[in-house]
Amino acid sequence: MLDSAEGSTAMKNELGGKGANLAEMCNMGLPVPPGFTISTAVCSHYYDNDQNLPKDLADQVLEALQKVAGDMGKIFGDENDPLLVSIRSGARVSMPGMMETVLNIGLTTKTIPGLVTKTNNERFVYDAYRRLIMMYADVVMEKAAGIEPEEGHGIRQKLESMLEDFKKKNGYSKDTDLTAGDWKTLSVSFKTEIKRTLGSEFPDDPRDQLWGGIKAVLRSWKGKRAVNYRRIEKLPDKWGTAVNVQAMVFGNTGENSATGVAFTRNPATGENMFFGEWLTNAQGEDVVAGIRTPNPLNEETKTQNTKHLTSLETSMPELYQELSDIRMKLELHYKDMQDIEFTIEDSRLWMLQTRIGKRNGAAAIKIAVDMENEGMIDKKTALMRVKPDQLDELLHPMLDANSEKRATFLAKGLPAGPGAAAGRLVFTADDAETWHKRGEKVILLRKETSPEDIHGMHAAEAILTAKGGMTSHAALVARGWGKCCIVGCSELHVDIQKREVHIGDTTLKEGDWITMNGTRGNVYKGVLELVPTDPNTHSEYKQLMKWADEVRTLKVRTNAESPADAQQAIKFGAQGIGLCRTEHMFFDETRILAMRKMILANNEIDRRAAVMELLPFQKNDFRGILKAMEGLPVTIRLLDPPLHEFLTLTDEQIQELSEQVGKNKSDIEKRIAGLHELNPMLGHRGCRLGIAYPEITEMQAQAILEAAAELTKEGVTVLPEIMIPLVSTVSEFTDQEAIVRKVAQDVFTKFGIEVNYMVGTMIELPRACLTANEIAEHAEFFSFGTNDLTQTTYGFSRDDIGSFLPDYLDRKILVHDPFQSLDVNGVGKLMSMAVALGRGVKENLKIGICGEHGGDPASIQFCKDNRLDYVSCSPFRVPIARLAAAQAEL
Ligand code: ADP
Ligand code: MG
Ligand code: MG
Repeated sequence: MLDSAEGSTAMKNELGGKGANLAEMCNMGLPVPPGFTISTAVCSHYYDNDQNLPKDLADQVLEALQKVAGDMGKIFGDENDPLLVSIRSGARVSMPGMMETVLNIGLTTKTIPGLVTKTNNERFVYDAYRRLIMMYADVVMEKAAGIEPEEGHGIRQKLESMLEDFKKKNGYSKDTDLTAGDWKTLSVSFKTEIKRTLGSEFPDDPRDQLWGGIKAVLRSWKGKRAVNYRRIEKLPDKWGTAVNVQAMVFGNTGENSATGVAFTRNPATGENMFFGEWLTNAQGEDVVAGIRTPNPLNEETKTQNTKHLTSLETSMPELYQELSDIRMKLELHYKDMQDIEFTIEDSRLWMLQTRIGKRNGAAAIKIAVDMENEGMIDKKTALMRVKPDQLDELLHPMLDANSEKRATFLAKGLPAGPGAAAGRLVFTADDAETWHKRGEKVILLRKETSPEDIHGMHAAEAILTAKGGMTSHAALVARGWGKCCIVGCSELHVDIQKREVHIGDTTLKEGDWITMNGTRGNVYKGVLELVPTDPNTHSEYKQLMKWADEVRTLKVRTNAESPADAQQAIKFGAQGIGLCRTEHMFFDETRILAMRKMILANNEIDRRAAVMELLPFQKNDFRGILKAMEGLPVTIRLLDPPLHEFLTLTDEQIQELSEQVGKNKSDIEKRIAGLHELNPMLGHRGCRLGIAYPEITEMQAQAILEAAAELTKEGVTVLPEIMIPLVSTVSEFTDQEAIVRKVAQDVFTKFGIEVNYMVGTMIELPRACLTANEIAEHAEFFSFGTNDLTQTTYGFSRDDIGSFLPDYLDRKILVHDPFQSLDVNGVGKLMSMAVALGRGVKENLKIGICGEHGGDPASIQFCKDNRLDYVSCSPFRVPIARLAAAQAEL
């Protein structure tokens, strides 16, 4: 146990953030009420020993309490001049509002008269007393005792509604209208109600209150809210909370007293303005609890809504000045934006808390860059101050926070695509497209999506699915486009026939408006206001990214399959394409028929004829992409998915197809049945397609190289890299490579020009990693396809993991979803091995990573440490990867 002045911010682990920073402020010479901290070790002891406190704790606490009382010139429990204390929780990292605090501990029927005489302020004393009763009953007697009343029927709500009734009966509108006598009367009825509801007396002994409070704070570490919060924020359960016992100072003694909270800069915008809220004649909790509308701190931050209210700056100018000076001192000391709590007791200012302030993405960037400009921090620190994922907020339109607060909440799902969107509900991809063409904004709601829905997904403002996880098709596609998307929203019961969805007892029909917050996974009724974003208009963003680019060595490419995506990615700073999939190009209406003809062909001649119908389309696609990426490398992957994905058809569609291609319906059905695989992800796909149907590889190679040759002739520099997927043995690679090389020779002869190109492979099977030296003898580059590599290393089907992953995460069998963040110990080991084996043969072998992990900051660190040349991710994650790559260097 430590006396506050003996601690510092560096001791957060022992003292908790609140205690450590109180000590630090004290050492800085700031006015902090005296107190002491019971360390987090006591909390651990408490839980390791059947909720028993260490034996010597009682003596230590009493000793420390005497010291505090001495500093204040008072005595705890004294009948003439009693010391009152607060008992406050405080974990290593702040868990705002998740744990408990009890104020005014030490007020009893014996100490009240003394305090009344001493302060000559009966109203204040009884106001403090009823607050103690309300908080104590709630925190200690109910929550800590494990009583779980029904929603809305807790003791706190009961006492609060008694207060409301009392006010109504007496014609009062504000808490401040109540007199000493009123509070006195109420405190008596409160105690009666507590006895009635909870079955025990409100304690009238200061020491009982003290220990009740301490234990309640310790128990709040395992309270529902705290446990949930830690699960969401991935914080360990073993840390424990510290307990701060601190002399009370009072903001509720009258008009010369006040309490407030403030940020040293605006946490929403990052503007360098002192920003906060305060209330006269109140106690700390009132400001946050929203009991009264708080006043703005100063004139410059007043808004339309607050301009009629009095600021602290005008009301108490000297104290405001003192607080402003403290603001500067704290920022200079902590070199970061602070979130502070203060109280004014009879015109004397006290600091009650400081901590690093939470901020949104835009504010984080502005504050980091401004502080560098102000000379407060260096560039490295500025770069480390922004979490890469926070950039996301700048890249997507967002919901207006105020309108979100007022909105009608419908359902919650997984936040698969950040940002916000409003639109009218549609239930099929075709409807989405039709409505979109008529100029409607739509949100596509599906049970789940498939590649067949692509067009509708594209047309929609946002995508909402009832099933699927963060790596489901819908999530993947939406993320690629930077589209707002919520998946796995299990409360949605979709009735496709009726074109309606049931959520609890709400029914929404086609055309009804909804709004989605993809960052949080929330769905709301109606249209909410959106605020658009374009990062390049944000000068601090540009500055920060410039610094990031100066620092990083890892290149950042993008996964893109259309010129539009490629252009978007270049705007976001992509240095090439790391993965251009070619299969989506075949789903277009005009092309899918040729593709289906190809699959249905009985012999090579027919098949070749059908494939060649696709050549002009493919060539055009590649021209567009290579041109958009002028001067930058473009990795194009040859056809990868199992063929049956192109033939998932309804009965009518089969009928139609049979007319279009002039084949028997039953023959088509036979072929479809023949394509059926039990394990398609391990079936006839990847290079296995090109090996069975070499004409597909030929056509694709020809399309790529002819596009490249044409562009070269036109004076455009192109750098195509042809990638052979799903190779597990070197002979698969050399088989396909030979086809590509042969086609290249033919094309170059035909065009009379040579083009620089490479042939390499995707490393996505364990055997490829294990034999990377053999493959590197031939391949010119490696690109880790970590989705399939994770799938095959674990033996987890990516599409089926949703059924057991939640259990795995809950029971900590896995700490994270290995499809989202790279499994460094397993998959990573295979990758390191492949890098070493490959570079052992070819020192300069170009190595990159494509797939979901390429945009994940933790995985990016791993890639940097393993000397990869680049990471590749979806266009909207490019800025995130650039920042993460810079942070990986620091
Ligand atoms: P939280 O962690 O939820 O912010 P705190 O422990 O900071 O909880 O307490 C909440 C509020 O109670 C503070 O904002 C402060 O205004 C008030 N408070 C806490 N301790 C004291 C004290 N010793 N004197 C006056 N007010 C206090
Ligand atoms: Mg606080
Ligand atoms: Mg793959």
